[in-house]
Amino acid sequence: MSEIGFEKHDHTACMAGALDAAESACEARGLRLTKGRRRVLEILLQEHRAMGAYDILGLMADEGYGAQPPVVYRALDFLVGNGFAHKIERLNAYIACSHPGDDHAPVFLICRDCGVVAETGMSLRNSLGAAAERVGFAIETTVIEAEGLCPACREKSAA
Ligand SMILES: [Zn+2]
Ligand SMILES: [Zn+2]
Ligand SMILES: [Zn+2]
Repeated sequence: MSEIGFEKHDHTACMAGALDAAESACEARGLRLTKGRRRVLEILLQEHRAMGAYDILGLMADEGYGAQPPVVYRALDFLVGNGFAHKIERLNAYIACSHPGDDHAPVFLICRDCGVVAETGMSLRNSLGAAAERVGFAIETTVIEAEGLCPACREKSAA
């Protein structure tokens, strides 16, 4: 898995690919990617940055979705519940998943300077899983959040 958030890449293709993947995953699993859900995912995909529900709400209100917090919160629940997005507790914000469809425990690398977030993944059958198994614990969700400096900000501070 690559840490796409820090790499220069064709972001238009990156966004289109992620939306396509979400659409076909919904179709395959009998889920409905409604207009509101799709728009929230699109907003989350726009930048490799985490966004608070309130920011999303502000954007959508301007687009005629009205000031309807439930629409945004329900869409976020749907996206997180089905693995299309993750919640970053530390930032109380949401980010689109970089590897939807993979069975993974997300690991977030959060730049404390510019706010870019890269998601890398960990297999669920890793050492943490093995450690939990030894004590008879069944892990359901694991979210690992690391804070530091991204390559661009490290370069800036070294200059
Ligand atoms: Zn991208
Ligand atoms: Zn993910
Ligand atoms: Zn940075």
